[in-house]
Amino acid sequence: MSEVFDAVPNEIFLGGIWKRGTGATTSVIDPSDGTVLQTVDNAVTHDVDEAVLRGTAAMSDPQWRNMLPHNRARYLHRIADAVETNSKRLAVLQSFNTGKSLTETRGLVASAAGTFRYFAAVLETADQDLTTPRGNYLTMSIHEPIGVIGAIAPWNSPVASDAQKIAPALAAGNAVILKPAEWTPLVSLALARLIDESGLPAGLLSVLPGRGSVIGDAIVRHPGVGKVTFTGGTTTGRTLAHIAAEKLMPISLELGGKSPTIVLDDADVDLAVNGVAYGIFSSTGQSCVAGSRLFVDESIHDDFVEKLVAKTRSLRVGPGRASETQVAPMVHHRQRDSVAQYVDLARQEGGTVLCGGCVPQDPALADGAYYLPTIISGLSNDAKACQEEIFGPVLVVLPFRDQEDLVAQANDSVYGLASGIWTGDYKRAWALARLLQAGTVWINTYKQFSISTPFGGVKQSGLGVEKGRAGISAYSRQKSIYWGLDEQPNPWAD
Ligand code: NAD
Repeated sequence: MSEVFDAVPNEIFLGGIWKRGTGATTSVIDPSDGTVLQTVDNAVTHDVDEAVLRGTAAMSDPQWRNMLPHNRARYLHRIADAVETNSKRLAVLQSFNTGKSLTETRGLVASAAGTFRYFAAVLETADQDLTTPRGNYLTMSIHEPIGVIGAIAPWNSPVASDAQKIAPALAAGNAVILKPAEWTPLVSLALARLIDESGLPAGLLSVLPGRGSVIGDAIVRHPGVGKVTFTGGTTTGRTLAHIAAEKLMPISLELGGKSPTIVLDDADVDLAVNGVAYGIFSSTGQSCVAGSRLFVDESIHDDFVEKLVAKTRSLRVGPGRASETQVAPMVHHRQRDSVAQYVDLARQEGGTVLCGGCVPQDPALADGAYYLPTIISGLSNDAKACQEEIFGPVLVVLPFRDQEDLVAQANDSVYGLASGIWTGDYKRAWALARLLQAGTVWINTYKQFSISTPFGGVKQSGLGVEKGRAGISAYSRQKSIYWGLDEQPNPWAD
């Protein structure tokens, strides 16, 4: 296993230079048993100043600034090559650091490589816009880099969320300062090492581990940072949006969710049972899009829930590195405890725990941050467990009468990130998909992602979208150019 950790430098990556962090130390744990994997010496705020200086210099360097898009694409392809070559190691590392199953972390590493390739391909094929003039001049709208991008990431899927920020930001010609989450800096540092070795010009990427309220805050407030891309909780996102407003700085926010999954009376029950269980219990529920509120047509409610509970009880709980594991530990014991508190609250609010609702009894799992997949019924949609993001393996089940009742309940949430519909009737699916207040609707599937398809939330789930061909424009400024073709002076000067 040592080669997995040898590749993680206990240093911060400061615009092409590796150096020992002089900030507080974080003990990074393996949540499957609580052992300390590595201690990380964090950055200090002075490092943010340095990273901004280096980033500004690197992105302004004519060699990078004037590089043609298809040449910039080569750097992204090289990063993708490095990620693919090291995919096994990165997947194992991420499994150690986040607790996730290897099946999931392999998928996340593949997605990270795919993200670099996708934005390389977008660069290869991107067009500039020649706009329609209203006089004897040529008009164009060109895209220019913003400058230094502050990228602040959560702990649930580090390698994939890092790539989703770094790849389009670099593709657009910017420099990036990434701040990984406190609990999961290891994969981001390993990725930085690969990117450094792949030959990206020094200064274009910095990775600064540290506390959100210290390093994250310093990045967002820094006058030299031209845009922030943030993925994390809604409360943090709102705080950062206030700072961005003061600076008049663009910010994109990918925030929390409390996504409804809907089972209509004509759904393929077996498919839906599997899909609902996957939608909430994969990643042990620690997914922004987790389908955490289940609405089932009252005519099939009891039968459906019985089958779902049986399926949930059969899920194999265990360490992420065991090949048979379906539900791995949570990222940290503190996250597990927060989930347990929500379940206790749901009990106090009158909910009935149909399965789970506690840590596993297996002594082999006693030291890990495990929590059994849990289904709760008997709550009304205004209960805290139905309204607040638990970010763990907890599903609340609610019946609905008709479409009107369903839409009212499903949309009765401050969040609007995702939703799922299980039905055999494409017309009902289409009508419902249009009525749901959500950035993404899955029909007869759940939690599938394509880098080509824009992703973002509505209401308090976020601002702006990532991914897709337009993903690069989120990291660009548009500049209009008017190119006069007349031999004559402008009219009033006649
Ligand atoms: P969080 O908001 O606590 O932290 C996210 C990041 O912000 C971390 O790097 C943290 O250090 C940093 N941070 C915290 N306070 C800060 C501050 N004052 N200034 C600057 N940075 C600060 O979220 P989390 O607990 O790491 O992640 C879980 C949350 O992320 C959940 O709400 C989940 O839904 C959300 N999430 C959303 C998406 C999405 O795409 N919509 C994806 C994954 C996770």
